[in-house]
Amino acid sequence: MSHPKAATEFLKDQANSQWHDETLWMIRDKRDASSKSIPEWEELRNLASAIKDNVLSNLDKYLEQFEAQALKNGIIVHWAKDAAEHNQIVLGILQEKNCQAIVKSKSILTEECHLNPYLEKNGVEVVDTDLGERIVQFLQQPPSHIVMPAIHLKKRDISALFHEKLHTEKGNEDPTYLTNAARLHLREKFLGAKVAITGVNFGIAETGEFLVCTNEGNADMGVHLADVHIACMGIEKIIPRRKDLGVFLRLLARSATGQPITNYSSHFRSPATGKEIHLVLVDNGRTRQLAREKFKNSLKCIRCGACMNTCPIYRRSGGFSYGSTVPGPIGSILSPGLDMKKYSTLPFASTLCGSCSDVCPVKINIHEQLYEWRQEITKHHGKVGKGLSMKLASGIFKSPLAYQFSGSLMRKAIKSLPESVIYNPLNIWGKSRDLPKAPKESFQDWYIRNRHE
Ligand code: SF4
Repeated sequence: MSHPKAATEFLKDQANSQWHDETLWMIRDKRDASSKSIPEWEELRNLASAIKDNVLSNLDKYLEQFEAQALKNGIIVHWAKDAAEHNQIVLGILQEKNCQAIVKSKSILTEECHLNPYLEKNGVEVVDTDLGERIVQFLQQPPSHIVMPAIHLKKRDISALFHEKLHTEKGNEDPTYLTNAARLHLREKFLGAKVAITGVNFGIAETGEFLVCTNEGNADMGVHLADVHIACMGIEKIIPRRKDLGVFLRLLARSATGQPITNYSSHFRSPATGKEIHLVLVDNGRTRQLAREKFKNSLKCIRCGACMNTCPIYRRSGGFSYGSTVPGPIGSILSPGLDMKKYSTLPFASTLCGSCSDVCPVKINIHEQLYEWRQEITKHHGKVGKGLSMKLASGIFKSPLAYQFSGSLMRKAIKSLPESVIYNPLNIWGKSRDLPKAPKESFQDWYIRNRHE
């Protein structure tokens, strides 16, 4: 996995890359307008951050409280240490219910665990019911954004896809027409499914209930028509009290799309008569991340996607260039925690401008963690050449004499060296950069000469 290579591929289509950039920026603009309409926005962010700090410091306690309350409410609770265990638990429930087709609403966790291919390999038909998710599922692609999975596609792409899959009119790009076609198609799937799978946005320790937020109502439709609801939840999604929701719900949708609130914020507390709710609590590397002092507060993330919408790299290189379930700035600090070697290029996919940290509703210091990961990665997988050149640079910067001497040497060298030394295929630095014109003298010489004037 190499972010620079994948990004280069995406950037080959300049017009598309520019369109992607502008589309995401439009959403960032909406987020700004929406957040500015709330005078206490910064207070809300501080509060959300403090609540999540408390949760991370007492995660064991809150999880036990949550489980005890959920059990009391009649929910069946399962624990999964990793993705494999999560997938086996879900398949086990489906086999017990003799279920061969399920409907699923958007869940980043199930993407992270690669649940769809696992179930399909085991003979289960999986239908993603979020419109964007269904579109990328038809294309056999992963989502390119955690909130807007098909944001990389244009109306004309979807029109062609629906013509092929749903037999819509050729060339009809009307969003209402296409959405209606998807609605009819999905309705059949909803009516036939005995089991519905959802993610979880917030689990409330105090009451044992959990919340699923959607804009399309697809989670509710699936769950209410099915006999069994399987909810998959990362263990960091806990909040202590129901009243904390007031803080998070106000921040979540505004940060994600600029809406005041998601259209559906559905509470699930206990199963209806004759039905079952299974809750699968998943670790999959989260406790390892919690133990990393410098990176643990990445677990505060509420998956709003605002850091992606604002990131100049994400906007220009697209979600697929990250090769991870969660792309963008937050993905670049979560993924190396799962596999540092595989995702070693991601923390470098940033300008470190800090815009991600500025928009994050739970105040994660994303850009600082990106910088920390760079140091970790260089320590573990640093290239010998880079290590040597850094040592050389360190020696030069430490000694005024060496600094002056190398400065004067370089000023001469830049003027006389043939261009091919800098601009050649072996030196990727020179691919997109020009050397400045060498000054006649150093700043120190200039200063000494002009000081008395
Ligand atoms: S890191 Fe912050 S801005 Fe990015 S998705 Fe998570 S909560 Fe949203």
